[in-house]
Amino acid sequence: MRWTKYFLPTSKEPPKDAEIVSHKLMSRAGMIDKISSGVYTYFPFGYRALKKVERIVREEMDRTGAVEFLMPALQPASLWKESGRLDEMGEEMIRFTDRHKRLMLFGPTHEEIVTDTVRKNINSWKQLPITLYQIQTKFRDEMRPRFGVVRAREFLMKDAYSFDRDEKGLEESYQKMRVAYTRIFKRCGLDCSIQQADSGVIGGKFSEEFVAKGECPELEVGHIFKLGTKYSESMKTFFIDSSGKEAPAVMGCYGIGVSRIVPAIIEGNNDDRGIVWPLSVAPFSVLLVPVNLENAAISGVGEKLYGALIDNGIDALYDDRDISAGMKFSDGDLIGIPLWAVIGKKFTEKGKIEIKIRKENRFVEVGVENATDWIIDYINKEKRCTTL
Ligand code: ATP
Ligand code: MG
Repeated sequence: MRWTKYFLPTSKEPPKDAEIVSHKLMSRAGMIDKISSGVYTYFPFGYRALKKVERIVREEMDRTGAVEFLMPALQPASLWKESGRLDEMGEEMIRFTDRHKRLMLFGPTHEEIVTDTVRKNINSWKQLPITLYQIQTKFRDEMRPRFGVVRAREFLMKDAYSFDRDEKGLEESYQKMRVAYTRIFKRCGLDCSIQQADSGVIGGKFSEEFVAKGECPELEVGHIFKLGTKYSESMKTFFIDSSGKEAPAVMGCYGIGVSRIVPAIIEGNNDDRGIVWPLSVAPFSVLLVPVNLENAAISGVGEKLYGALIDNGIDALYDDRDISAGMKFSDGDLIGIPLWAVIGKKFTEKGKIEIKIRKENRFVEVGVENATDWIIDYINKEKRCTTL
């Protein structure tokens, strides 16, 4: 991507309502834009980070054998009446009456819909266990939206639901998810602790939260629940077991705040100059910085290196703006791309590219002809370290 053709509006000043470092940096690095309280547009740079996190979540869900699908965000209140949660949910749930006077709502969570799906389509023990998941926008009219996208009113969640024949099966499904969550957070560069938690209106008898370490007081990034038969009993999700008797499916549910992971990563990965992305979730892997585009040799090498990186499938951002080197460096620090290839003084003097490793603040000099290979090697090595 060429910076001049991209949409990456950086700024020096954080928004006035930004209390925590990730909110300040996400706004300043042109990642998000507030539209209304708890409602944000993801600008391209922020959207790339979100997509990288989403990909890790999807890969790890698929690895457990969970099956991806997509439920509607719009839900009929009638299903929530059946489960008994319509009154329980309170004002956090965004409701409206449609033109036919039916009460509808924007899904804050999806136990009712998935339970309805399973009761309509599964009737034998032979069809169980099954875990279904989706990655979808959720709506919650939070009392106090804050910290940017950490506590938003519209946010991206991965929600998975397991259906088992019995408690033993639930225990297995639950443990698989617990392992997957640990892998996801590790791959995202998040240091998390697991804490036993209150199950709230989701219900069930046991739940655990994954809490990212750092200073943000809202740090919960994931929550997994053993629901038991709460929804399958109230919504009559029975199957015929191996002895021919009717039994309720034993359920679990598992949420991850996909969009909350992005600020959580930044909370744990920043310095006084900006974001320090872990390579696994960085919007771009490489930032190319030609310090002076008017110098034909510099701009020529810049173009060549950019082309070589793109040809090798490396996601590179080429800072082809006609601005001072100082401004390029301070923007570079702010947006926090892990590797920089600087084409400047060392190039004019001795034909070397300076590769900066952002997280170590270390420069390595590499000959122009070796730069692409050096970058590919570094990326592959890092990948090997973070792939568990
Ligand atoms: P919290 O206590 O933070 O409100 P919760 O217990 O209500 O979370 P769950 O219903 O378990 O959350 O939702 C699953 C995940 O979705 C949470 O672990 C969190 O990461 C994320 N999440 C919940 N509410 C929000 C929100 N308002 N904005 C962004 N992410 C959220
Ligand atoms: Mg909540």
